[in-house]
Amino acid sequence: MSLGDLVKKAVPTTSIKSMISKKFIEDRPLPPLRLEDDAYVRSSGLGYLCAREEIICNALNIDHRRNKFTSDSMLTLVHGTALHWAIQNKILPELNILLGQWSCLECGLKHGLPTGTQALEDFLIKRPAKCNNTKCNSTEFQYCELHFKDPDYRIGGHPDGFLKMDGLEGLGLLEVKSVNQENAIKALAGPFEEHIIQAHVYMWLTRVNWTKFIYWDKAGRGVSSIIEHTVNKDQKIIDEIKLFLKSLWDGIETKQLPTKPFLLDQKNENKAKIKVIDASNCPKAKKCIVSDICGKNKTFLEV
Ligand code: SF4
Ligand SMILES: [Zn+2]
Repeated sequence: MSLGDLVKKAVPTTSIKSMISKKFIEDRPLPPLRLEDDAYVRSSGLGYLCAREEIICNALNIDHRRNKFTSDSMLTLVHGTALHWAIQNKILPELNILLGQWSCLECGLKHGLPTGTQALEDFLIKRPAKCNNTKCNSTEFQYCELHFKDPDYRIGGHPDGFLKMDGLEGLGLLEVKSVNQENAIKALAGPFEEHIIQAHVYMWLTRVNWTKFIYWDKAGRGVSSIIEHTVNKDQKIIDEIKLFLKSLWDGIETKQLPTKPFLLDQKNENKAKIKVIDASNCPKAKKCIVSDICGKNKTFLEV
């Protein structure tokens, strides 16, 4: 048999690709935000959360959200996670601008922990050179994201990191978004509104004054695949977020339906902004499973 024939014979018949396609399928309904479950709003989904939908689904116990993973969405997610990892563990530590907590890959000891009620700036650290455990002395670390939450407004989330950079005052936040080509083009004009909302929740919860956005174009190449924006904290945005969250949680308790169900103006097909929502003029009504119950400018839900 020729070498060419041997090589052809050596090509495996089992495909990892088809194994991946079969493996990652999950479609699980998620309960609405319930007071009794000690539920929190996720900052990353706040821009598109409909308060009326949450209140109705809560009162009627309808699972309107789904945790839907296919192999395609799983790979997109894993790809995004990998890019976050690279920014947090390979790129920014080398630039000496990333602060946070770090876990030793050898012994697990965490570095950069508070010793009391210190401000973030006083205990978060750059990546250590060596593990503090004298029996370990490892030089390998993993960046650990910190979780922040507000128990009154019941909102929380994990910022991607903290930055200290020349020319920018004090501590800032890092927000990394891995995007497809279409969204990378949009991101050239500025951070997405929902991301500005998310960053303002983090700036509120962490008391820092600016956020650096890094959009990484997954279809791009090299340094030009990175789009960067800096956003300063605007207290008026935080006040709006608080008002919205209050109307959401009050509504869940009292069944009062807010007339402003979205924090962000949702555009309809004619690009008009939604002022008063009913099922007929809500741009999401077609896909909303409670649009008939929501309809006609109701302000109170009777169940
Ligand atoms: S129809 Fe629109 S406003 Fe009403 S619950 Fe559904 S998404 Fe919310
Ligand atoms: Zn160690």
